[in-house]
Amino acid sequence: MDVVTDCWTQIRERLQSEIGRDNFRTWIEPLSFISCAQGVGRFATPTSFNGTWVERHYADRISSLFREGGFQVSRLEFVVDSSLPPAETSERTAPVPPPAKTAAAASESVGLPGGLGDVDLPTSPLDGRFTFDNFVVGKPNELAHAAARRVSEGGAVTFNPLFLYGGVGLGKTHLMHAIAWEVRLTRPEARVLYLSAEQFMYRFVSALRFKDMHGFKEMFRSVDMLMVDDVQFIAGKDSTQDEFFHTFNALIDQQKQIVISADRAPGEIDGLEDRIKSRLQWGLVVDLHPTDYELRLGILQAKAEAQLEQNPGITIGPGVIEFLAHRISSNVRVLEGALTRLFAFASLVGREINLDMVQECLADLLRHSERKVTVDEIIRKVADHYNLRMSDLLSARRARNVARPRQVAMYLSKTLTSRSLPEIGRKFGGRDHTTVIHAVKKIEELKATDSQIAEDVEILRRMLEA
Ligand code: ADP
Ligand code: MG
Repeated sequence: MDVVTDCWTQIRERLQSEIGRDNFRTWIEPLSFISCAQGVGRFATPTSFNGTWVERHYADRISSLFREGGFQVSRLEFVVDSSLPPAETSERTAPVPPPAKTAAAASESVGLPGGLGDVDLPTSPLDGRFTFDNFVVGKPNELAHAAARRVSEGGAVTFNPLFLYGGVGLGKTHLMHAIAWEVRLTRPEARVLYLSAEQFMYRFVSALRFKDMHGFKEMFRSVDMLMVDDVQFIAGKDSTQDEFFHTFNALIDQQKQIVISADRAPGEIDGLEDRIKSRLQWGLVVDLHPTDYELRLGILQAKAEAQLEQNPGITIGPGVIEFLAHRISSNVRVLEGALTRLFAFASLVGREINLDMVQECLADLLRHSERKVTVDEIIRKVADHYNLRMSDLLSARRARNVARPRQVAMYLSKTLTSRSLPEIGRKFGGRDHTTVIHAVKKIEELKATDSQIAEDVEILRRMLEA
């Protein structure tokens, strides 16, 4: 036995005592160690779900145990080998994967014949919770949701690429995984490749290094659907962008579906080549807006129900969900974190989750939510509201359709933040403070005479203060 295999044997023993026999038998035992090189520990796994699970729950621990044994491992990789025996299901105590219900899991463990489906693609692990079933739809995300649904249904490729963008924690990754799960369920033979832009770069760079560009190109050009998450990551990385552009074009030419996400609209990603920006805008560009109160309420209700099912002893007092929806930011990840913390707390102290507990347990988050609105946020929201680019508002353009929104933004900056007039002027492309004074006066006047302006200001103010 070589040293590294020996090390893995010892790690297995450690894990067994750390995570318990049942978890060990369910998740670790089915793995077969392959190799450890370039910081990557590779394993064969009977199902990709098993790999995903290990990746999510035990990767850090396994990597650090490798390091303790003297092997530099920073990441784990799983290769599906359907000939491996799966875990003994009778012993399985952890919940069976939720992904797109059991059919997805079943189609995986059946093991598709080589070359069929996406089994041999370097798809990043998909989160079993990120399905359409678990996605709560509201005004801010209904368009993105509908577009994602449509793409997952297949048929004629109508919008290509689908470009989803929006701030952090608003559900971009969730929707992409949901598309992947749905396609796996309904068209298991389709080759779906989902990966982050970072992974794309990593694959590209190692193909260069190992002189396997041919293999790289073949693999990427053989897929039926390519999904690249967080594409802003490749901005400024020139050769990766270049390769991305070629891959993109090749797939579009073959009428293969492409789904891209980013934290900004294509045109706003600095360091992205213009030809790529314009290519990305060819299809359908939809944004996920920050959540509003109703959507937060819906999401919290859905997540609380799921938690209550798993924690039958716990109850939630009146007003708690509403309070959280009101006070916690639009980032859904933060909302989820708040609920998780409350349930953990309640299960320790064994009592009802009530408003007192919320105050006690979430003090840091609640303090954070009282933070003041910033001028940058105002500029962004106003630009969105009027369908302009942020750069328009900062530009020297004086056309009414740009100048008026700019004045609204200046007015809101003056009334909602504690910034001084000169500071606000500087934020708006280095304008003089007298311009800001003029804008504030103008909007005050118009609010009294122009009901459209009054309404715009009111909507924006409410959105910014939400
Ligand atoms: P992004 O990729 O946009 O940063 P994610 O897709 O990772 O955000 O979402 C962050 C978290 O919030 C995830 O756990 C996701 O499941 C959850 N989430 C976001 N939007 C929704 C939604 N509409 N319904 C249910 N969960 C959501
Ligand atoms: Mg994401």
